[in-house]
Amino acid sequence: MDKKNGTQKSKVMPLIPLRGLSIFPYMVIHFDVGRDKSINALEKAMINDSMIFLTSQKEAKVDMPTPEDFYHVGTICKIKQMLKLPGDTVRVLVEGINRAKITEIIKDEPYYEAKLEEPSYSTEVEKDKKVEAIMRMVIEKFEEYTSAGNKVSADVLITVSEIEEPGRLADVIASYIQLKSTNKQRLLEAFDPYERLETLHAILEEELEVIQIEKQIAQRVKKQINKVQKEYYLKEQLKAIQKELGEDEGIAQEVEEYKEKIEDIDMPDEVKEKALKEAERLLKVSPSSAETGVIRTYLDWIVDLPWDKETEDRVDIKKSRDILDQDHYGLKDVKERILEYLAIRELANSMKGPILCLVGPPGVGKTSIAKSIARALNREFTRMSLGGVRDEAEIRGHRRTYVGAIPGRIISSIKKAGSKNPVFLFDEIDKLSSGFRGDPASALLEVLDPEQNNTFTDHFLEAPFDLSKVLFITTANSLNTIPRPLLDRMEVIRISGYTEEEKLQIANKYLIPKQIGEHGLKDKKVNISENAVREVINSYTRESGVRNLERMIANICRKVAKRMVEENIDSAKINAGNLNKYLGIQKYRREKAKKENQIGIVTGLAWTAVGGETLSIEVTPMPGTGKLQLTGQLGDVMKESARAGISFIRSKTEEFEIDKDFYKEKDIHIHIPEGAIPKDGPSAGITMATAVISALSNVPVNSKVAMTGEITLRGRVLPVGGIKEKVLGANRAGIKKVLLPWDNKKDMEDIPSNVRKKLEFVFVENMEEVLSHALVKEDEKNEN
Ligand code: ADP
Repeated sequence: MDKKNGTQKSKVMPLIPLRGLSIFPYMVIHFDVGRDKSINALEKAMINDSMIFLTSQKEAKVDMPTPEDFYHVGTICKIKQMLKLPGDTVRVLVEGINRAKITEIIKDEPYYEAKLEEPSYSTEVEKDKKVEAIMRMVIEKFEEYTSAGNKVSADVLITVSEIEEPGRLADVIASYIQLKSTNKQRLLEAFDPYERLETLHAILEEELEVIQIEKQIAQRVKKQINKVQKEYYLKEQLKAIQKELGEDEGIAQEVEEYKEKIEDIDMPDEVKEKALKEAERLLKVSPSSAETGVIRTYLDWIVDLPWDKETEDRVDIKKSRDILDQDHYGLKDVKERILEYLAIRELANSMKGPILCLVGPPGVGKTSIAKSIARALNREFTRMSLGGVRDEAEIRGHRRTYVGAIPGRIISSIKKAGSKNPVFLFDEIDKLSSGFRGDPASALLEVLDPEQNNTFTDHFLEAPFDLSKVLFITTANSLNTIPRPLLDRMEVIRISGYTEEEKLQIANKYLIPKQIGEHGLKDKKVNISENAVREVINSYTRESGVRNLERMIANICRKVAKRMVEENIDSAKINAGNLNKYLGIQKYRREKAKKENQIGIVTGLAWTAVGGETLSIEVTPMPGTGKLQLTGQLGDVMKESARAGISFIRSKTEEFEIDKDFYKEKDIHIHIPEGAIPKDGPSAGITMATAVISALSNVPVNSKVAMTGEITLRGRVLPVGGIKEKVLGANRAGIKKVLLPWDNKKDMEDIPSNVRKKLEFVFVENMEEVLSHALVKEDEKNEN
């Protein structure tokens, strides 16, 4: 800003100190004057040229200000109008002209007169960028100030934005805003327009900040009031709607009922508090909203769960034994181990022992043993199948934000059990899939872990449920696929398949009476002959357990019941001869060993998840280049095993009377035709080797012989697993002689004595022994 003209004009003028008022140049304003001294000054001014110097008192309350009591910078004003008001006051209308500074008080009676110095600037101020910028900034701030709710009309904004002169801009804006008198004075004393604008900018900014804070406080207060009001209002409205719909009392009553129930149940405080809160919420949400459904479901679950329901254990090993015997035939070892387990648990008086895992083929009574355990302990029983469970949510439930969410299957099963200490059976723990959503196995681990399961939290309940009193039992068909950490927590009890004799006993003593009872035939004379049962076992089922046997017996009973009603009779005899009338044609031909001794075909024994099976291995050599081809259901282990066999044979060609170059000139094709999927590949080692030797040497194999065993490169026979199941399978298949590895001799004690009596067992250490029993010697050929 250039001071074009530095000379200061000096003027002498009457002066009025104003109380609580500052006047800026360009401002037009009226005020009332009452003090004599001030009126005198006015009169003097009017005599002159209507010009008067107005300045502010530092303290409004001072009545007789001395020169120290007013500021020495003020505004020269032109009096535009004067109006005498009743009671010695005069109303004056003035217009601010220019700021000025008192250089000398010339007189103080009967009015103040002062010598003034007026800064004089050229009206045409040259605006540089700096000035332009500050002007814009000030206008912007002023806009902000007005939009912050100060009562300044839109016209003012327009006027202001059109002002070109920097000093005037500051003065006009200053006259519109409400400022503390000290701030007004600061602006008045800023003679330099740029400095004035800067001061104004700072003041505006300060002012805006204060406004902001004021607003926040106001809002907070208002919000609090609003919220209370709003809630009250909405509640009233809701009540009105509910009344209109005739629902209010219903809901209020429902909520009361829920609350009563919740209060009555002894559940953890945390859960109780939450449940009560939810019940309250039912009053608040609209009765027609989906939310009420969710809340009701939640509350129903909470009140239905057996938080405080617990059965008292029966601790009586003798009674437990009786119950296990009542429900199950045989299974002596299994029962003993279960009784031991129960006894130890009672003695230790804790649930922290390992978890029982019953392992065996389907239908051998795993589930029903678990049920018997519950019965023996006088506990409720509940089960949950883990087959195909791949989502953790199945175990833990979905959060309530899911549409239609309910708790997971653990909590559901507990609810079904109706007590917090049931016997809880996890069926098919070996079929647990490792999931793509969460890991069901680790969720299960938590459930089974006594250190953690007292606060099992279901996602739906969002509250911990104590599972520590539950007696968990698991079942599996095979141990191979059980996740290791789970397996480590379990005590495994194996239940193997049944022999025909055992099945017969089970059918006669348990299954038939049970099915007759269930079909309401107790009072009728229904007789199923022993032969008929044997026929069902052999020709209508092929299984290790008795599940299908039971189903067939149920079928017979159903047909019998129907016939009795239709034909009005009350007795029925079922024997092997008329069995097909009840069950249709036989499903399986009696699985008999091949009658003929054949070259290159050997019966092996395989262990599968559903029990022991025989499997027929066929070998065909053909001219070629020594390729080994395997077809059928074969795993890699089986291929390795076949190669080992071939290597062994190559080293013994002379002994076996085989062409020593067979591995160069012949391709060997090994095939396993029947569908049994062997789980333990290497156990077919000696079977394959025998078949290859038979095929290459053209010596037939005894069709009544079956074998299992792993082979080494040197032709040694190594032990294998699943002996009991395999032997039972061989027996079912009508095998007479079984070749087993020497080291499996110890497994013989597992085999029921009637089966042991029926079969001839040979324990072999090497391939030579295998061959001596399997291959048909010249002189034996015609015997079979
Ligand atoms: P799993 O659970 O092993 O598949 P289940 O427990 O379902 O087998 O048994 C199938 C049926 O066979 C059940 O009705 C069961 O009572 C019966 N059952 C199995 N084993 C025996 C047994 N040893 N004595 C009596 N009934 C048996």
